[in-house]
This record gives sequence, structure tokens and C-alpha cells, in this order.
Amino acid sequence: MKYCPHRACPHRQRVGAPAEFLDHVSSCSDCKTPLVDSEREAIEGIAPPSGDPYRGPAGRTTAAVVRRHRPGGNDVAIGAALLLVGLWFTGLTYMNGSSHGTYIVALGPMIYGAIRLLRGLRERAAG
Ligand SMILES: [Zn+2]
Repeated sequence: MKYCPHRACPHRQRVGAPAEFLDHVSSCSDCKTPLVDSEREAIEGIAPPSGDPYRGPAGRTTAAVVRRHRPGGNDVAIGAALLLVGLWFTGLTYMNGSSHGTYIVALGPMIYGAIRLLRGLRERAAG
């Protein structure tokens, strides 16, 4: 197996991994870069030469970066954290017998956290 080491290879930007080729192939079908034998070497890659056409439109790079994040993953993490903090805070104020004002303040982040959590889970299920 051979691999395309070009970091700005259109295949790599689409898939997030170096393009793989059969041994008899000598250059990448996407970007014409000479192939290397080791996958590790290909992942480290070679920097695109200056004036590289694939560096061009900013939208392409942004899209590739955004796609690396799992959809909704951030919402789930933040939502769960807020929910936990809210629960912990509520329990704390309840045990301390503090005023109802503090108790109600903790509901805000909890509700917000629950909404984000649900939205994140739904996005993750959809994506
Ligand atoms: Zn390539």
C-alpha cells in the first residue's frame, strides 16, 4: 500500500486521512504528488508548496476543520456539565437551607444545560 503525503490533498481534506493507493501507482490521482510507502510518513505529510491551488478558497479549509468535530458533541458536553453544576448547586443550597433566591438561581443553568444537552443529542442522532 502507498499513501499520498500531500497535506493539502483534496482527498485528505475530504476524508481526513491520506489517500491510499495500490503499490503499482506512483502518484496521487487527486493531486499528482509522488506517493510514499509508510502511512506514518504520509500522515506527517509534506507542506503544500507556496501558491498551492488547494490552499486558495478559505471555505474549503474551514469546512474541513468543522467536520472534524463530532456533530452536537460540544452541546452534549456543555449541557451535561451545566446540568451537573446546577444539580450540585441545588443540592448544596438545599442542604444548607439557604434562601429560596439562591435555589432558584441554580435552575437557570440547569434548564439551559438540559436544552443544550437535548439539542446536542438530537444533532448527534441526526448526523
Ligand atoms: Zn493527494
